[in-house]
Amino acid sequence: MTFSSIYPYTQETIAEYPAHTPAEIEKKLALADKAYRQWQQVPLPKRAELMRKLAAVLKQDAVEHATIITREMGKTLKEATAEVQKCATTAEHYADHIESMLQPKLIASDAQKSYVSYEPKGVILAIMPWNFPYWQVFRFAIPNILAGNTGVLKHASNVSGCALAIEKVFLKAGFPEGIFQSLLVSSKSMEPVIADNRIQGVTLTGSTPAGMSVAQLAGRYIKKTVLELGGSDPFIVLKDADIEQAAKVAVQARMQNAGQSCIAAKRWIVDKSVAAEFTAKVQDLIHHLQQGDPMLESTNTGPMARPDLAEELLKQMNDSLKLGARILAGGVLEGCNFTPALLADVKPGMKAFDEETFGPLAAVITAENEQEAIRLANMTEFGLGASLWTKDLEKAAALARQIESGNVFVNAMVRSDARLPFGGIKQSGYGRELSMEGVHEFLNLKTVYVQ
Ligand code: NDP
Repeated sequence: MTFSSIYPYTQETIAEYPAHTPAEIEKKLALADKAYRQWQQVPLPKRAELMRKLAAVLKQDAVEHATIITREMGKTLKEATAEVQKCATTAEHYADHIESMLQPKLIASDAQKSYVSYEPKGVILAIMPWNFPYWQVFRFAIPNILAGNTGVLKHASNVSGCALAIEKVFLKAGFPEGIFQSLLVSSKSMEPVIADNRIQGVTLTGSTPAGMSVAQLAGRYIKKTVLELGGSDPFIVLKDADIEQAAKVAVQARMQNAGQSCIAAKRWIVDKSVAAEFTAKVQDLIHHLQQGDPMLESTNTGPMARPDLAEELLKQMNDSLKLGARILAGGVLEGCNFTPALLADVKPGMKAFDEETFGPLAAVITAENEQEAIRLANMTEFGLGASLWTKDLEKAAALARQIESGNVFVNAMVRSDARLPFGGIKQSGYGRELSMEGVHEFLNLKTVYVQ
């Protein structure tokens, strides 16, 4: 079996990678486990020093890595470069803060001393998607490796070049062999890896069906999972919002990465008194987006990553049009190139409202008032992020509590930030990445009681 990497913009096959054989996988898991036994003994300042070197390697080779990303999944070179830079600054952030994040927590009890000690567990398996093929991987790998775990990655089948390049970044930075390795293996062949005794936990970012399937298997073998799944984030614009700014950010939050982000602003829920003004502004901004060649500096949205994903988006759009939505911009598909689209009059019952739309398709939904806006925002099986726009910050705090999601950003777009916990509720998954909460997910929170 081989994995093909196809440049989405031209559909040209750029590389073929043979899958690892069961014997090769066995060798890699043995190495990951052996490396863990030594790595957990390495003093924290030394681990942090290597992580700073990794940041330097990423910065130095940013364009080379960005080119691999763009060629495999189609985002613009500008976006890919920013993604690599974000991985580098995150590595620096955790190198600076990991020591305080792993400080034992003293808890008063009947003992002379009792505390929680944060200790690594072993090899953690990451199953990651193609949409942010570096960021999603480093977001898991940086905190976990600093905390003393080792990592193996099963990356999405269309980004094997990224997977192998990331493995090399760790070696180039001077990490010992086996600290981070990529397994080229198909989804169907993952059960023996998940079941393997050396794997101590599984983190997955991807679709809800993939999460269900992996969590089921992991449960069978008593492996902890963290799941970061899909989203259908509301972007709620109340009547007292700064409409100019809201419109600008809405377009960015929906269209960046060609709309292929779990936290993209997928449903724009707008108070009816400002809906016409908001719609006119976003329509104008969308008309001016340049879709096309991702290598060009002037391009704002590259192609989508795969033709099947683009065709699915087209179906969701056409289905919504049949049920009464109106198209105000874009929506033309050629190969993987989907021109940024704007739908108005979107309502519950349409796919653009009910399903995750993973591409450059914006949907305006009109709400009678703010309570209806919140009700519409929560009318989804997902619960990842939400963006709320109002000048009244007290009201924003009260409304934020009513929104069913793992995070709410007020007057800003939802994003993952190295300093803040990231994750969802409902069908968007469970567990957290990043920050103290994320660092602790795959550690042994060991209670020590001294009498
Ligand atoms: P998938 O969820 O299928 O893939 C994500 C990762 O999970 C890939 O590494 C994939 O490997 C792996 N995977 C999938 N099924 C299994 C399984 N049963 N066992 C083990 N690993 C598995 O995403 P798709 O690429 O097919 O995209 C489909 C939809 O998923 C998108 O349209 C979007 O809605 C959503 N999605 C959400 C993402 C997010 O960030 N939340 C990211 C990507 C997609 P392989 O590629 O080999 O199948």
